[in-house]
Amino acid sequence: MRQSLLGASLCVLLVAVLWWRSPAEPTQSKREIFALGTLIQFTIENSPAGAAASHAAINAAAQALQNFDQRWSPDGTGALGLLNQRLRSASDATVAIELLPDILRAVELCRSSGGLFDPGIGRLVVAWGFDDEQNFRSEPPAESLLANARAACPSLCLARVDGQHLRLDSPGARLDFGASAKGRAVGQAIAIMRAAGIANAIVNAGGDLQAIGRASGRAWRVGIRDPRADGEQAIVAALNLADGEAVFTSGDYERYFEYAGQRYHHIIDPRTGAPAVDARSATVVHTDPMLADAASTALFVAGPKQAAAVMQALGVELYLLIAADGARLVSPALQARIEWLDDPR
Ligand code: ADP
Ligand code: MG
Repeated sequence: MRQSLLGASLCVLLVAVLWWRSPAEPTQSKREIFALGTLIQFTIENSPAGAAASHAAINAAAQALQNFDQRWSPDGTGALGLLNQRLRSASDATVAIELLPDILRAVELCRSSGGLFDPGIGRLVVAWGFDDEQNFRSEPPAESLLANARAACPSLCLARVDGQHLRLDSPGARLDFGASAKGRAVGQAIAIMRAAGIANAIVNAGGDLQAIGRASGRAWRVGIRDPRADGEQAIVAALNLADGEAVFTSGDYERYFEYAGQRYHHIIDPRTGAPAVDARSATVVHTDPMLADAASTALFVAGPKQAAAVMQALGVELYLLIAADGARLVSPALQARIEWLDDPR
């Protein structure tokens, strides 16, 4: 836990959120919690309702995130954990009402991403050892283990949902919403703050974030990390955010091990059952954080050749893909807004 806390704080430092202060010092309320496997920072600026109201809004948002974390954990006794227990030996199950809307949305996103975002890959995440931060593998799993895992990964794209009844193609599934849950959670936290009358805020979950309003009278300004550099200089580009925009990045530097000179990371290509090979990082900007999160994972898997088609199918216009060879593929709409901070390699 200490290690992952340290990792998470480093990660937050690296994907620094930058803001400029106006001459009048802004009032700021902040809080950090550990949830969803990462350090989550809440910041509220210049709230007319005052510091006490800001703290109350942050605390309500933080509590919602903790509840969300428990509900969406793929293992254990939360709602998703219990659903997965049933799916271990059955191909159908009753979905808890609090999971239903997001599962329906995930089925839709799975389909429109052409199956590149697919929460059905949970058994493969376990086979590759990325479900356990503390015990990463030192070499790829044996072919037989992978074959068994693949056989127990019915695609969520093919799920049939009738009311609360979910039917998958085969038993054995371990549904894993790790690629979209952080987006949904950040969106919920922001919605809670908005409902509490907060106009200027940012929720930053280990570099994945959503912002509302402005920072000290200027747009919130965020950095996009260089997937191969460390330290505070590791920002390749900066971007000013409009009200409500979220920025989500999937990278091969978050959770990985190296074996025989090759990097094996936590973003699985559902078509091969192995870590996706065509990207180093994928960033999506959108006002819907769950979409931004799922789409960044799909973009990573898509790689440069399929990026444009997959982003169009998902309705994403603002994206940046840093390919496996370091080449940068930026959408025209993002190119018009981004400020590069280094020379593209
Ligand atoms: P991060 O969690 O680092 O922000 P992502 O949003 O891309 O990155 O989510 C990666 C997580 O999602 C993995 O740890 C795994 O649990 C799950 N996952 C991996 N590959 C896929 C995929 N192709 N589709 C859906 N979920 C995936
Ligand atoms: Mg994602």
